[in-house]
Amino acid sequence: MSLTTATNAHTVQQAAAWAQGLGLARLDAQVLLLHALGRAPHDRAWVLAHGDDALDASVQAVFASHVLRRLNTEPVAYITGYKEFFGLTLQVDSRVLDPRADTETLVEWALSCLADVPSPEVLDLGTGSGAIALALKHTRPDAHVCGVDASGDALAVARANAERLGVVVAFHHGSWLSPLGTDTFDAIVSNPPYVASDDAHLAALTHEPLSALASGPDGLDDIRLIVQQAAQHLKPSGWLLLEHGFDQAHAVQTLLGNQGFVNVQSRPDLAGILRCTGGQWQTVK
Ligand code: GLN
Repeated sequence: MSLTTATNAHTVQQAAAWAQGLGLARLDAQVLLLHALGRAPHDRAWVLAHGDDALDASVQAVFASHVLRRLNTEPVAYITGYKEFFGLTLQVDSRVLDPRADTETLVEWALSCLADVPSPEVLDLGTGSGAIALALKHTRPDAHVCGVDASGDALAVARANAERLGVVVAFHHGSWLSPLGTDTFDAIVSNPPYVASDDAHLAALTHEPLSALASGPDGLDDIRLIVQQAAQHLKPSGWLLLEHGFDQAHAVQTLLGNQGFVNVQSRPDLAGILRCTGGQWQTVK
């Protein structure tokens, strides 16, 4: 289906209405239209102010193909090729999870835990696009930040983002803490896979790497491994902070408590759902 044959969408306003009529969210329609026009994604006021402008046939064709990809559940970020995260523009594609705004909660929490630690050592497990690691290093230039991922493809995306943004993070290839030797950290943060492998929700996420989303029958397989392994890699009073599923806060609190973490607590995401849980490694008495 092409936009011109399907509709009379010759103007900006008609094209946006066409996309929304097919079921696209208004924001997605506006962002994809701006992308097809080569304009910045935050320029949504332009779409409103230029509703009567005619669209070139080539722009209409690009927009139509992007609308169809979005209707097929592909993340907008993969279509445009980038995502804003914690004030940074990250390049993303199907090699990495599409960074969510909710994950900024984890970054903010880590920054507050590290506020009084000079030149902190920080580790981001399952770094993907590098979103968390790069946001932390960008905000705390005095920090030493490492990022680990089991996916070489993901690390290529993370390294490219670091280079393009001029943010120095040491990236390592491997499973959770295995590449870290005897290194210890003031904070270990992670947005690991946490969706149950039979969760119906995964059907809407088929464009993203399954290895970044699913984690065993209850979604907690990777979180269990991280909680077990992190204790040996935290300095006294160091924090382990984990993002998790909407209904996993209690289970993650229990895992941390059983492992010997103290000050175990959870933080809400933008929707008010307890989305991150963390604890502090025992202070030396
Ligand atoms: N928050 C994502 C979702 O449910 C999952 C991210 C993850 O598994 N780390 O859509």
